[in-house]
Amino acid sequence: MEPFGSLRYGNPSGSHSLARDAVRAVDEAREQIAEIVGCRPSEVIFTSGGTEADNHAVTGGLPARSAQPVCSAVEHHAVLDVVHALGGHTVGVNSDGQIDHADLAALLNRLTESGAAVGVVSVMLANNEVGSINNLAEVAACIAEASHSRVAGESHIPLHTDAVQAAAWLDLRTAAMAADMISISAHKLGGPKGIGALVVRESTPIRPMILGGGQERDRRSGSANVPGIVGFAAALRVVDAERAETNQRVSQLREQLIIGLLESVTGLSETVDRSAQIPGSCHVCIEGVDSESLLLLLEAEGVLASAGSSCASGAQEASHVLTAIGMPDASARGALRLWLGWDSTQSDVDRALQAVPAAVQRVREFGI
Ligand code: PLP
Repeated sequence: MEPFGSLRYGNPSGSHSLARDAVRAVDEAREQIAEIVGCRPSEVIFTSGGTEADNHAVTGGLPARSAQPVCSAVEHHAVLDVVHALGGHTVGVNSDGQIDHADLAALLNRLTESGAAVGVVSVMLANNEVGSINNLAEVAACIAEASHSRVAGESHIPLHTDAVQAAAWLDLRTAAMAADMISISAHKLGGPKGIGALVVRESTPIRPMILGGGQERDRRSGSANVPGIVGFAAALRVVDAERAETNQRVSQLREQLIIGLLESVTGLSETVDRSAQIPGSCHVCIEGVDSESLLLLLEAEGVLASAGSSCASGAQEASHVLTAIGMPDASARGALRLWLGWDSTQSDVDRALQAVPAAVQRVREFGI
């Protein structure tokens, strides 16, 4: 990235040699990203990150589509809030956080019968809170079946997937193959913040959401973030090359962490089935403990975790994800997220296995 922020500072929208140098760097990055995502280079639209990619996919660009969007109830707010703002609909999930196919089919049929058009169905590939993976081929089949039963003349409903959390762990060439649009963000791959992409298959119509200079083949205006794009491609290349080894190593560490916690902390349970999760995800619930109190004690021991609820107007509220999987508010108060990353080590796990039981004991003893 470094040369493109200093000596090779050209703007790819220009026409002189510095600009051409930047164009080459962006084109090369686009080709590498496309190869790893499993799409054509022309299908990659660079964005400012996952939030913009999700907004663009769900709105279909401005002016807003009249058709209603549909998404799962556990989507990131970058999808969920847009769907709500456009008067769309959410679909329930099972206790592992995966979209309920019967619920999706029933909603699509209901909308069809009422004469409403569906603009897009958005289903995340892996959830950012509990790590559950969706089978997009099955989701696409469910949408196709619902589309077939529609009145003649109705067109294909595009499937968008937010793969922001999944891209580090899953091979998008296969896992996201069934999606018509895919959101990715570099900072979830060890790349820079403020750069991402929306992949839009050539057969899927999309209007621009940001208008101006007509960059990205008129689909997203604004001067390209050249260092960001170069860093994004570099991070994705490394992740892709090392994914199999990383997944195996991190899965083993996660196994040790969860089994160790289950053995050493009474009242602790796994939130969703491990087989349904991406390897880095470790989400547990601890009975009778307010996990917000645990976080400070854990941080003092060098363990950075997050809770499953947030404080809204003085009252602890369960996250929308935990509510959607059917967890009662009282249990969500004890939710603890201990994600592992590609750089997590045995000593990190050992430290967490010492720190968590000790912190839980202190919270229980002192009633904090
Ligand atoms: N979608 C998911 C699943 C995420 O986890 C995040 C970020 O945490 C986003 C979207 C937003 O991405 P960005 O931070 O690049 O805007």
